[in-house]
Amino acid sequence: MSKNMPNDTRSPYDPDNIFAKILRGEIPCKEIYADDYALCFHDVNPQAPVHALVIPRNAYRSFSDFTTDASNEEICGFFRAVKQSVQLLNLEEDGYRLLANHGEHAGQEVDHFHVHICGGGSLGKLINKNNSSS
Ligand code: AMP
Repeated sequence: MSKNMPNDTRSPYDPDNIFAKILRGEIPCKEIYADDYALCFHDVNPQAPVHALVIPRNAYRSFSDFTTDASNEEICGFFRAVKQSVQLLNLEEDGYRLLANHGEHAGQEVDHFHVHICGGGSLGKLINKNNSSS
């Protein structure tokens, strides 16, 4: 499948998004793990005692683009990097949450695919119903 599917109304990948700048070394990050497929770093505005982000090295706007356009090797390499990051953050034993926002309803802020890793304490329920519009 191509990046220009007929029903894809979202804007194209913006090479000046903040995560693209981090990948190019134009702005700093607090790195946790890096390999050929992915980079993991601490979230600048943590929502949990441990809050990290894992991003692929190539340009994908979100989970949907990534799983449509990336090669099997990239997808496998990326998720192995998520696992490596979880281990380096010492979250395996007590637990953690993975989360990926896609689009407006999910509140995606940065249009470069990323997986949030949250842990380091009890995270509560997945959805806060007080923030739900229905
Ligand atoms: P999302 O809402 O899923 O797009 O999440 C974007 C995340 O990126 C938020 O949790 C932000 O706090 C985080 N973020 C934005 N800018 C930076 C940055 N320069 N370094 C690290 N994390 C960032």
